[in-house]
Amino acid sequence: MADLARIIAAHPFTVAYFSMEVGIDPRMPTYSGGLGVLAGDTLRAAADLGVPMVGITLLHRKGYFRQHLDAQGNQTESSSVWSPKEFMEPMPFHVSVTIEGRQVQVGAWRYTVYGAGGHLVPVYFLDTAIPQNSAWDQTLTDYLYGGDNHYRLCQEVVLGLGGMAMLRAIRHGMTRNYHMNEGHSALLVLAMMMERAGGHGLNTVTKADKEAIRKHCVFTTHTPVPAGQDQFPLDLVVSVLGEELTEALKATECSFNGVLNMTDLALANSRYVNGVSMRHGETSCDMFPNYPINSITNGVHAATWTSPPFCRLYDLHIPEWRHDNLYLRYAMGIPTDEIQRAHDEAKVELLAEVKKRTDIQFDPAVMTLGFARRATAYKRADLLFSDMDRLKKMCQEIGPIQIIYGGKAHPKDDGGRSQIRRIFEAASTLKDTIRVVYLEEYDMAIAKYLCAGVDLWLNTPQKPMEASGTSGMKAALNGVPSLSILDGWWIEGHVEGATGWSISDNWKPESNPAIESVSLYHKLEGTIIPMFYKRRDEFAIVMRGAIALNGSYFNTQRMVVQYLENAYLATGKS
Ligand SMILES: *Cc1c(COP(=O)(O)O)cnc(C)c1O
Repeated sequence: MADLARIIAAHPFTVAYFSMEVGIDPRMPTYSGGLGVLAGDTLRAAADLGVPMVGITLLHRKGYFRQHLDAQGNQTESSSVWSPKEFMEPMPFHVSVTIEGRQVQVGAWRYTVYGAGGHLVPVYFLDTAIPQNSAWDQTLTDYLYGGDNHYRLCQEVVLGLGGMAMLRAIRHGMTRNYHMNEGHSALLVLAMMMERAGGHGLNTVTKADKEAIRKHCVFTTHTPVPAGQDQFPLDLVVSVLGEELTEALKATECSFNGVLNMTDLALANSRYVNGVSMRHGETSCDMFPNYPINSITNGVHAATWTSPPFCRLYDLHIPEWRHDNLYLRYAMGIPTDEIQRAHDEAKVELLAEVKKRTDIQFDPAVMTLGFARRATAYKRADLLFSDMDRLKKMCQEIGPIQIIYGGKAHPKDDGGRSQIRRIFEAASTLKDTIRVVYLEEYDMAIAKYLCAGVDLWLNTPQKPMEASGTSGMKAALNGVPSLSILDGWWIEGHVEGATGWSISDNWKPESNPAIESVSLYHKLEGTIIPMFYKRRDEFAIVMRGAIALNGSYFNTQRMVVQYLENAYLATGKS
């Protein structure tokens, strides 16, 4: 990566990376799922590569939520209160934003990410719990994705406008790139307009000003369906932001049919836009035909998501993997029995953790499937249970399996809540044949055990809803093959029988649930379970393929280099 250091040195620039959620430390509940974990992994990779990046997010003092599940799988929630001062230092000043005509003070806590080579990336967690603020304003940085639309819009004012004010107050040198990770931070465009207007009205902002703003903005979209986009009715926008800013928003080229759509706002004001896998880039082009949309496929931070036994194995055979993840390609030369041994260790650690949390002892000799991610309808956690008789018969006649589930449903997502209940029902129906456990409180700490310790990682999203997916990438780094629907990253990572297996071989962007569930059973019965029990060495070759072919590519080191080459440094010309 020496060239990269030279390129960075030749282009003085800073990237300000804005994200509503950031999963940077498993003990800080400041994320809800893949989006936040991606943000954390991005910041870690930037620190490793020496990229001058600054992260901006909200503090979420009461976290996302803590999940409680009763014996039927009914989810209840409580706040996840934590102590920022254990992890971060408070900044000694405040900035302010105007919300509904009130001045709201915004403070920040600094978290420092230490890169492998010693480079530091600061992440600022914005905080409105300041005594000068009204009681309600103090709650604005409490809950991630909590409250109603009004609460959300106010939070987005804190993130976009407050984040920009904080960035200026900290004086991080010249920021060349404002990277919006999803549309939640798109109001930062307004802050840039106010700077251009320099104290005059926003109606003095010219077309040339707007073009200059556009040159600095990068937008990564993560939402393959319009229903998933953040939208606010115009009267709410006027009451929160006031007439002048609302007029300025209308004057940007975003469509504005009575609603402010944050995706449109970000699209209209960004010079570089991308989806998070090749397929998602194509889906986004169909959704937004007026914009050129690129693709940069997500990754995961390799050193973070590789389990200790595999770290030891790679350190022994390919020690360069830590500073250059491409070396994982040479995992091809690691003897398969060593890969199996490392995996057995990771499995024992996972099963010990399951025992600790649930008091249920899984059998280390039994093939173990893992399925864990946000519980929401399109992820179809219950696809495996669409034909219980066939599933039971398969386990009795071909070979036993046991399954570990996990995932939180957003409190208002009834579809997600009922998915969890259905897994509990299935677990009780199957209890004499197949052990099924649902772990409460799925988070980064459990994900690390789970993605590494199961024998097969299952993913059954409804197409084309999985923009990328990253948990299968964590599994691949640990020699765990995927059995997955051909959507998101798996379209790129799947090589049948070499890195894992596909559920249905249909590449089209629509799902057919009946065909997919039949294919799921067919692959398990006909190929995967027999290979696992009868042809262990063949199975280990697939494990090794997952590491060499997918671990070496689907990591945030490769991803951040792609952002540098395609987005950040290309923007630096303005
Ligand atoms: C990696 C991760 C995710 C993302 O999972 P997908 O299968 O990509 O949706 C969600 N939650 C946690 C806690 C994770 O670590």
